[in-house]
Amino acid sequence: MDYSIARRRMVEQQIADRGITDQRVLDAMLTIPRHLFVESGLQNHAYSDATLPIGEKQTISQPFTVASMTAALELQGHERILEIGTGSGYQTAILSHLAKRVYSIERISLLAAQARRVLDQLQMSNINIKMGDGTVGWKDQAPFDGILVAAGSPDVPQEYLEQLDINGKLVIPVGDRDEQTLLRICRLPDGQFKREHLMGCRFVPLIGEQGW
Ligand code: SAM
Repeated sequence: MDYSIARRRMVEQQIADRGITDQRVLDAMLTIPRHLFVESGLQNHAYSDATLPIGEKQTISQPFTVASMTAALELQGHERILEIGTGSGYQTAILSHLAKRVYSIERISLLAAQARRVLDQLQMSNINIKMGDGTVGWKDQAPFDGILVAAGSPDVPQEYLEQLDINGKLVIPVGDRDEQTLLRICRLPDGQFKREHLMGCRFVPLIGEQGW
């Protein structure tokens, strides 16, 4: 089945028409085969404007959410990125396409293994995935130029701020269990943090030591 027409329509109507202008992000989403990251019975829905179940009571994020979070990192290609919540691996693949290296943490081993399989099949070799509690970050590999958190947190874990490099950007949904605000926190050259509210969002909870 050729999904390229559905993928192009997704990028034009759900992403570009809603104001995402970063051509690199649009190109990445035109390239990565999203249908490979969903359950086989749901492949026909892979390019719809929706989150979809991926098993273990978790979801693959809506395409517009993936595009918005990625665009907020303003990637140029040289960055080392930490991703929390690998899930299906789709967002990981987009980041892998746009940055130098991606370090991704997933707390559910089955999902981490599934994601690894698809990413290997696509020969994406600049990705390290580890299983564990991502709320404490990945100290051995810090600092990062970008940190993308794909689950809703009650607050901003201190470890993420500490593991963010100067000029780095952290994108994280913060709020209660049902609704959050997507925040972008930039680490300025003087070491201070600038916080921006990007949009309202709904993520599954970030579960762990510094989460729920
Ligand atoms: N962006 C992903 C995708 O494209 O498929 C979707 C991520 S899904 C909305 C959130 C993921 O975060 C789930 O797979 C969940 O298991 C994971 N998660 C929740 N708490 C976590 C934690 N403390 N550490 C690592 N992963 C966590």
